[in-house]
Amino acid sequence: MKTIATFCRVCEPSCGLVAQVEDNIVQRLQPDRNHPVSQGFACHKGVNYLAIHQDPDRLDYPLQREGSRQPGEGQWHQQDWDSAIAAVGDQLAQIRDQYGADAIGGYIGNPTAFNALGSQGIGEFFMGIGSRRIFNSGTQDCSNKFAAGEAVFGTSTLHPLPDIDNTDCLLIFGENPKVSHMSFISIADPMAKIRAACQRGARVFYINPRRIESASPKTGEVIQILPDTDFYLMAALLHEIDALGRFNQAVLRDHSNHVDELREVIAPYSADSVADVVGLSAGDIRALADTFSAAKRASVHMSTGVNMGRQGTLCYWLLQMLSFVTGNLDREGGNFYSEGFYPAAKAGRARPDDSLFFSTRYGELRHIRGALPSNLLPDMILDDDNPV
Ligand code: SF4
Repeated sequence: MKTIATFCRVCEPSCGLVAQVEDNIVQRLQPDRNHPVSQGFACHKGVNYLAIHQDPDRLDYPLQREGSRQPGEGQWHQQDWDSAIAAVGDQLAQIRDQYGADAIGGYIGNPTAFNALGSQGIGEFFMGIGSRRIFNSGTQDCSNKFAAGEAVFGTSTLHPLPDIDNTDCLLIFGENPKVSHMSFISIADPMAKIRAACQRGARVFYINPRRIESASPKTGEVIQILPDTDFYLMAALLHEIDALGRFNQAVLRDHSNHVDELREVIAPYSADSVADVVGLSAGDIRALADTFSAAKRASVHMSTGVNMGRQGTLCYWLLQMLSFVTGNLDREGGNFYSEGFYPAAKAGRARPDDSLFFSTRYGELRHIRGALPSNLLPDMILDDDNPV
């Protein structure tokens, strides 16, 4: 039996796994205790990956259908890869010649997005055939972060993350880490980090419409707001922090542009004016603003619950502003950007033609990180004039 170090590619942390292999067949898959980052952690998806690998329905080779396309009819025949790729290539070339490149669309899901060569290869492929009809799972739950990242930092892939190990106060909007493992943050076991932070005295608040599983006496408390009202709470927090005189003057002097415009935006949203909208008392909102801005080191994060709301992009902008004006952006215990293993921020640099809106029968659209909104893919497939 050979032991081979590998990793789980289902989501961002890429937790270390150890495979035991005999006669070229994986017999066991376990968390890798010696992995320097995940340190023996893998969630239920990672440890059960062997069941997917061994699933009898798993497709390990190309199948070609012949005869009727009706369900239950027609015949499937195994093909070798070279013939299958040649056949698909021929058909795509015919479609492109007859209907144009945009008749070919593509959807990129998470396992491909987290596959370094796969995501690169698909982008090149679509660029090569000239189609701009690419869709991805990111447009279903996090395009707002890419768009706001572009607007604030000039790149869709710069996302300052909370330094949970060193923070004294952490606000988590629209996210349930115990269930989701937090997105974008790439920590294998975020609840362990949150628990450790609370143990050394950090305050953790989950701003959420539900009493979520992550909250407990050892892991922080829920501040229960009305659904999809995060923008108003964030704006009120900024408003009240400013009223307390706690915008960090040195940071603003050295690093800010357009602070007057930010103040104009938050001016109408005092704690009193948003209290009924968000479902909290004005006193509770002011107390949260006080706790966050008085903390020596404070950090903030948001995820799907806010991303998929009506004002996800604005919220992500205000989230950066909460971190920035309190002097917590790009510092230990606050939110910072880690370069990781390749210069991701450079790769996501805003391309001028990508941010242009254009008119379509579905309304004004733009590409975000090269992709169109995936919720429109079915309509574009069924489109009478110019279908995918
Ligand atoms: S958190 Fe779970 S799904 Fe994500 S990489 Fe780790 S084991 Fe895989």
